Amino acid sequence: MEPELIPGKASTWIIMSKTIISVKNLVKNYGSFNAVKGISFEVYEGEIFGLLGPNGAGKSTTLEIMETLRSKTSGEIMIDGFNLDKHPEDIKRIIGVQLQTSGFYPGLNLVELINLFGGLYNQPVNPMELLRKVNLEDKAKNKTKELSGGQKQRFSIATTLINRPRIIFLDEPTTGLDPQARRNLWDLIREIRANGTTVIITTHYMDEAEQLCNRIAIMDEGKIIKLDSPDRMIDELVAGGFERPKQVKAANLEDVFIHLTGREMREE
Ligand code: ADP
Ligand code: MG
Repeated sequence: MEPELIPGKASTWIIMSKTIISVKNLVKNYGSFNAVKGISFEVYEGEIFGLLGPNGAGKSTTLEIMETLRSKTSGEIMIDGFNLDKHPEDIKRIIGVQLQTSGFYPGLNLVELINLFGGLYNQPVNPMELLRKVNLEDKAKNKTKELSGGQKQRFSIATTLINRPRIIFLDEPTTGLDPQARRNLWDLIREIRANGTTVIITTHYMDEAEQLCNRIAIMDEGKIIKLDSPDRMIDELVAGGFERPKQVKAANLEDVFIHLTGREMREE
């Protein structure tokens, strides 16, 4: 008998089930300190995957190992079909890594920096088009030190896109930003995902993880203690009898702040 094809379901299934990153039994020791204790997880193509956890949990270490920027102690990592031990150069070509703008050449303006990075990646690049994507066209001739916090973050995200990566890694991209700049960055990250790029992000903001991430892994002391969609995690907690100690109001202080100050960016 011919198998019945259900295109809608099949394509949905393919989108959420093709593994683009697989991490198996990852261990990282710093001397005698066991920072990452044998974690395993998969990231699906096209999702926004969050790594959450208190400071020191091992998030940045895990991210930097996947980015080929840090060595691992043991474990196996596959990224888009490439084994990290055997083909780190192939992996570097298909990933975008966010760098701190403080490390950028201070004398160069945004266009010059993008051209410089394009040259390093050996990629033809259109600086104005890239700056338009992150809403920084009017800062093209400015230097990074002249940008606000949110603008700096948008610029550093722009630099991750220069080599048209299949996957980007963002380590706390919204830390220290005001609520408007944070929302603006969420839109940018969603847009990047909509263009087909898989996003791995760390954050300390739970509302952000809930809004943005398809699935999250919660790390604590070098282990993954939970991995699921935010929705399912919340449902499971509630099903277990959890109740908030206080009456939940229909809005929170952040809603008040946004209502009073608006959603528009101020820094431009
Ligand atoms: P997170 O990003 O979750 O805050 P990190 O991956 O930065 O956590 O750090 C995990 C643990 O490893 C922390 O206890 C940290 O102090 C330690 N650590 C990180 N980098 C180094 C290093 N280069 N040398 C020694 N210890 C480190
Ligand atoms: Mg960190």
